[in-house]
Amino acid sequence: MGEKRLSAAVVTVGSELVSGLQLDTNTREIAATLTAHMYSVVECVSVGDEMEILTSTLGRLCGAYPMVVVTGGLGPTHDDITRQAAAAAMGISMTSSADLVTDLRNRGWRHLDPEAASQVYRQADVLDGARVIPAVTGTAPGQMVPTPAGVLVLLPGPPSEMRPMLEMLGEGRTAATPSRILRCSGISESDAQVIASRVVASHPGVGMGVLASPGDVRVVLTDTDAGPVELDKAATSVADEIGWACYSTDGAALAEVVLRLARNAGVKLGTAESCTGGLIAAELTSVPGSSASFSGSVVTYSNRSKVDILGVPEAVLADWGAVSEQTATSMALNARTTIGCDVSLAVTGIAGPDGGTPDKPVGTVWFCLASSNETVTKMVRIPGNRELVRLRATSMGLDMMRRELGGD
Ligand code: AMP
Ligand code: MG
Repeated sequence: MGEKRLSAAVVTVGSELVSGLQLDTNTREIAATLTAHMYSVVECVSVGDEMEILTSTLGRLCGAYPMVVVTGGLGPTHDDITRQAAAAAMGISMTSSADLVTDLRNRGWRHLDPEAASQVYRQADVLDGARVIPAVTGTAPGQMVPTPAGVLVLLPGPPSEMRPMLEMLGEGRTAATPSRILRCSGISESDAQVIASRVVASHPGVGMGVLASPGDVRVVLTDTDAGPVELDKAATSVADEIGWACYSTDGAALAEVVLRLARNAGVKLGTAESCTGGLIAAELTSVPGSSASFSGSVVTYSNRSKVDILGVPEAVLADWGAVSEQTATSMALNARTTIGCDVSLAVTGIAGPDGGTPDKPVGTVWFCLASSNETVTKMVRIPGNRELVRLRATSMGLDMMRRELGGD
């Protein structure tokens, strides 16, 4: 039970952000930095280049939060209004800093238009009482201004200029205990949530959230007031309760876990992919050092390639179809010799939007995992569009490998 978290807000400024032209990536970096330094980020707001709205937003947030961080609108052009809005919100004025003017002049600006040249020097305007955060890259310095509730930090918008200034946010703060992330596969978001909240209920001071994306469920446990030992206890208990579906407690991705297991078992892996088009191989090979346990992959999309490359009998395709247990089994068994691996995974399915039939609707996927001593097959019906079917099939395939190699 240590230091309490201070509440914080993040504001991003730019019409390009609110119109959808530019993805706001700064919020994530700033919020993560604040969270890592014992702040609790309560609000993140994006505002266009609108003086009145920005001024009222800053006025409200600076009255409510001990820490408010703003990015964007500190540059030299007419739409860069953050300094003026902050001054108006706080009822203070700005003074041009002679040092900053000299600094800007020394950067040797060559502007043909005198108006553009004079605008550059607006970046030297410092809010009264503010501390300047020097620009490491770029020209716009940041500023830290005292507010009724704490401090307002102004940072430039371009991520490469903003990033070097982030460390200022940790000044005088102790580092928070990093969150524990439990990664899960083969369990629904709501099951994970129910199981984890039951466990967390008996660990006061531990916060819990569940994040889900296709084929990936993460339980995030945070130290709200428990300390690292209690947080670890909670993480162990949640992982135990979730059981086999929890594949990593150290942040490792599913492909990484599969490769680790393969290496420990001394086996080489290979994939024979149809509807996933090599995505499973791509996941495995994205892990550094994967060559130690991954032999290769064949992408056999057409019937012809399944016959010619993998040696799937034409009769199997004719009798059962390309998306069938028999075809998946033949693909996996033959892949072991074609690729020269010990454990092979085959996947064949209908990703859509066309190609579905009443018997085999879009989303029908057959898997077969073949090793030296057994052949395991599985059929799933994956709801969703083409992209979702391919992504889910990829993580389901990797999970089959994990379960096989881990002795589930
Ligand atoms: P500004 O500081 O407002 O002049 O921003 C300059 C450029 O930085 C913008 O055109 C964007 O490309 C980029 N930028 C500003 N804010 C953000 C943000 N929140 N996330 C990512 N990029 C940003
Ligand atoms: Mg801007």
